[in-house]
Amino acid sequence: MPLLIERIQEGTVIDRIQAFRGIRVLEILKLVLSGGKQEEMKSRIALVINVPSHHMGRKDILKIEGRELQPAEVNKIALIAPQARLNVIRGGKVAKKQDVKLPPKLEDIAICPNPQCISRSERESSVFLNEPSGLRCQYCERLFAPNELLV
Ligand SMILES: [Zn+2]
Repeated sequence: MPLLIERIQEGTVIDRIQAFRGIRVLEILKLVLSGGKQEEMKSRIALVINVPSHHMGRKDILKIEGRELQPAEVNKIALIAPQARLNVIRGGKVAKKQDVKLPPKLEDIAICPNPQCISRSERESSVFLNEPSGLRCQYCERLFAPNELLV
């Protein structure tokens, strides 16, 4: 029997999340804080883990009622779930589909994993440039894979 999740009338469905990464997506959206403390929850949220997918074999799906995502949030999702697709739901219908994509430059989206990086000690805002081989910190100039950045 399929796992049934109610359709949402207004909100966002994040589809094609790599299996078992849905929890990380939930955390970075601060819908559930990783410290076990919960923000005041206004929306209902459904996370479906490890369901069969045509495209990916297995995937996670996150449904968030009554909330659309900010561009900065979409960029954070792109770091940890680069294949994710957003479906914006309005009036019970898919109003917009959007594949997440990292922009050429990420400002203040993530923290540099290099503990010696000046962007961490000086409380500078972080800047990463999206290069073909990875994301380069503009301060320490190290190159990182998208999922290595701290979000
Ligand atoms: Zn750095």
